[in-house]
Amino acid sequence: MVLDRHSFMKKTLVLLGLICVFCGCTTSKGLLTIDKAPILVSMDLVNIKNDKVEVTIDPGAFKSDVVLFKIPKTIPGTYSTDDYGKYVQDLVALDYGGKVLNVVQEDDNTWRISSAKRLDKITYWVNDTYDTEQEMMDPVFSPAGINILEGENYMLNLHGFVGYFDGSKEVPYTVLVRKPLDLVATTTLPMEPDRKPDPAWDAFVAKRYFEVIDNPILYARPNTESFVIKDIKVTLTVYSPNGRYKAADLKDRMEEMMLAQKAFLGDIDGTKEYAILLYLSELGELDAQGFGALEHHTSTVVVLPETMSKEELAQVMVDVVSHEFFHILTPLTIHSREIQFFDFNDPQMSKHLWMYEGTTEYFANLFQIQQGLIGEAEFYERMLDKIINSSFYNDTMSFTKMSENILEEPYAANYANVYEKGALINMALDILIRERSGGEKGVLWLMKELSRNYGREIPFEDDALIAEIVAMTYPEVGAFFDTHVIGNVPIDYEAYLAKVGLAVVNLERQTGFFLDGEIPFIDVKDENNDVVFVRENIPLNSFFNDMGIKGGDVIKNINGTDINLESMRSIIAFSYNWTSDKRIIIEVLRNEEVITLEGDAGSPVVLEDGIVAVEGVSNDFLDLRNTWLKQY
Ligand SMILES: [Zn+2]
Repeated sequence: MVLDRHSFMKKTLVLLGLICVFCGCTTSKGLLTIDKAPILVSMDLVNIKNDKVEVTIDPGAFKSDVVLFKIPKTIPGTYSTDDYGKYVQDLVALDYGGKVLNVVQEDDNTWRISSAKRLDKITYWVNDTYDTEQEMMDPVFSPAGINILEGENYMLNLHGFVGYFDGSKEVPYTVLVRKPLDLVATTTLPMEPDRKPDPAWDAFVAKRYFEVIDNPILYARPNTESFVIKDIKVTLTVYSPNGRYKAADLKDRMEEMMLAQKAFLGDIDGTKEYAILLYLSELGELDAQGFGALEHHTSTVVVLPETMSKEELAQVMVDVVSHEFFHILTPLTIHSREIQFFDFNDPQMSKHLWMYEGTTEYFANLFQIQQGLIGEAEFYERMLDKIINSSFYNDTMSFTKMSENILEEPYAANYANVYEKGALINMALDILIRERSGGEKGVLWLMKELSRNYGREIPFEDDALIAEIVAMTYPEVGAFFDTHVIGNVPIDYEAYLAKVGLAVVNLERQTGFFLDGEIPFIDVKDENNDVVFVRENIPLNSFFNDMGIKGGDVIKNINGTDINLESMRSIIAFSYNWTSDKRIIIEVLRNEEVITLEGDAGSPVVLEDGIVAVEGVSNDFLDLRNTWLKQY
């Protein structure tokens, strides 16, 4: 996922006569674990009650007297406890005669059904998660959530709608959806073959429970584009509530990006189809606020604000969707047993978020420079941003320990560092392997090798992975993992950048007199809007520093004009035309004393770190840098 949680930052069924066409008679079914008759799920998107959808599940016959029905507590890729059962209400179990059976809810996500041998079906109502994000302490991340907007839009992350009977996750499912006639489904869940088309119902099939939840469905009015990248058919569907964006607005950038990703990955086997489900939020009180995306084997759900400009939206989609698509490599292909045999209600976490999220996020940046979508300067800026952002998290926390305890504090609070330090671990590792192999090998080579040994159905042993990577590479790689990934020693990024002839230096950047871009150097006091002061604890520009103005100073007068909010606004506007030799006289109030400061306006700059190429280094450094950034 990017938050997945990206660092980019953070309703059921009334059975009408019609349903009989699909349901048939249930009493003839055998024991579900023996004959593998599908579990039949029905969802009604037409008869919505209080923003809820009714779901009916007909599991076939049970051999035991008691059966547990569960809704996931956690799903793969989110690394958080979400208790989707909280959104399930009024669960009722019925016997073959339509009589209500005894049901006890054991916890948020588990229902114990007695007299299970007589169980015909269960029904319940599923609530919207987007509606309640603002009132929840720890809301479900929107790309994993549920939207029920009657007649308009349904975001069906099926783990919120469909549960499983304990011990029966490996049986096929048939999912029937009654839908408004003007809405269409986008999903990679296969349609049931041989079923007579019915415009009011869609019928989907899944080989096992995991497939149900690995294939979200977006219902919306048609707004879809498709394109083919080599042998992958890609579908992009956009839900834009105010009609601001069409799928066509994003198609070219998505196509260019995925072509570049395919070129970067080379001969790695991927999926034959991929769906991008984009939900654009109006940002209202009852709408999605968790921006980012969640990965699945053949699709991704992306949630972003509809208010973004077209260019912003296109660039964020490139960054976010490329990250999700690279998840096909890891964890979707290369993953541990903990992920292969994921327990939705008692998950065991793997130690390798440095790879699942770190490698993925690193590749989502590296492929862009390797394939020419961004330049070197942009790539360096992105890596430097990650160095700066990672400093806000605990840099002495073992990454493997954090990973295996990510559902608990203090580890959970450091989760988003997987997109920052996680990517930087891979950058340093990439440079290290490049150096040791004379430029020939890197992290992409490593991932290709691992994908030969492991696959969608072939997991690795969590504790054996690092030793295996070391055996494939160099002792220095072992020392790197021991010290910086298993160990808690921060990485000296500058030392790794130096290996490819790069250095972090202080650079001057042009800025405004009172604003750095959109960020002001000055502020107003809350209690009195007309007191304008210089912000404290931020780096000031050369104009303030050269004039002798300090953080906390209250600005009283500039060149004869008394300062209040309104006059300050017009001075800011005029300041864009100040010449460097303009004489400026400013009166400030400091420690209850008025001080007059005077000087030339100058040409304001701020100092900031930048990653730059070191002049005059030998060709060895340049060659290594070129193989790192340009070889594929
Ligand atoms: Zn991710």
